[in-house]
Amino acid sequence: MALTSGLGGQLSIDLGALARNWRALDKVSAGALTAAVVKADAYGTGIEMASKALHAAGARFFFVATPDEGMAVRAAVPDAHIFVLYGLYPGAANLYIRQNLMPVISSMTMLEEWLAKCVERNEAYPSAFHFDTGINRIGFRLNEVGLVRERIETLGYAPQMIMSHLACADQPNHEKNRTQLALFGSVMAQFPGIPASLANSAALMTGRDYHFQMVRPGIALYGGRAVTGRKNPMQPVVTLHVPILQVTEGRTGETVGYGATYTLNRPSKLAILGYGYADGYFRSMSGTNARPGGKVFIRGKICPVVGKISMDLTVVDVTELGPDLPSPGEGAEIFGTHLDVDDQGDAGGTIGYEVLTSLKGRYNRIYVGDGRVPE
Ligand SMILES: *Cc1c(COP(=O)(O)O)cnc(C)c1O
Repeated sequence: MALTSGLGGQLSIDLGALARNWRALDKVSAGALTAAVVKADAYGTGIEMASKALHAAGARFFFVATPDEGMAVRAAVPDAHIFVLYGLYPGAANLYIRQNLMPVISSMTMLEEWLAKCVERNEAYPSAFHFDTGINRIGFRLNEVGLVRERIETLGYAPQMIMSHLACADQPNHEKNRTQLALFGSVMAQFPGIPASLANSAALMTGRDYHFQMVRPGIALYGGRAVTGRKNPMQPVVTLHVPILQVTEGRTGETVGYGATYTLNRPSKLAILGYGYADGYFRSMSGTNARPGGKVFIRGKICPVVGKISMDLTVVDVTELGPDLPSPGEGAEIFGTHLDVDDQGDAGGTIGYEVLTSLKGRYNRIYVGDGRVPE
């Protein structure tokens, strides 16, 4: 594949595939509203372009991590309903109100700040409440449910939604899922008539029991694998091609890269890629003789990374290509149609989420299509 620019890697984002993924999930969760999680720059795809495409596909509810991200979505999609997952940032209440952002309130401190603002302005500004049912992260503790209820009942305030988050949704048979589901049911019983939301991508795919009134997929929209050990049904959204800078030869017994951790056991052809850990190709994806690392797709074949990945360079063994060697300037696929982000994640002992959200820096980012794909 020829790169369209001589400037380095090319990150191509297929907004049509993003839109089709949202529609596919919306079908699976028919009966619940399908939101879109666009935190962390929409998992590395670009929060403004992604939010616009998702809106064109039909999404109206968006989840972000921070108020800054909320402002970015507000600017891209003026009529979006935006929840800020990690709550009311201290002192930011006026900003939320101005930007019409809904905090997902997760502590008594946040609740008091928000309620004080509502009282001060005599207006019931919308919010959601997050209850921790077992991940032990952000959220009201279950023993605070009564207190929360009392506090809002005296003021006549009600949240737009209550929610919780699963610790093990990627493993559908994990018993913790049923435990958290039951605990969430007990919270819901304390908030009759208030819409509820529990499911991320994996829980959405696991079954209707988890859907309630709104589902919150993230990774699956971007083509990543949500459920472990199952075929990923989503379309790839992100394709990364990086430039081959040089093709060289190595002799038997020579070593490759820092630390001399890979020894060539045959006369080898090596392609040097202009791509390294500073571009998001984790050093843990290095290949040693004892442990294979990342893989790269070049001229129709999947070729292994050999030696340590360095800051700006990665070496790939292309001996198997025979005489059909690539030329300098040609692109090598890191993921896209032949390899996916989860293949790379598996090779580095991490997950597709981290691979996607580490794609910062030195790429030409190009967008293909938009959300207005035919139904
Ligand atoms: C990130 C996040 C999601 C989306 O999770 P995916 O696994 O990417 O689908 C949903 N809910 C909460 C609370 C989150 O933090």
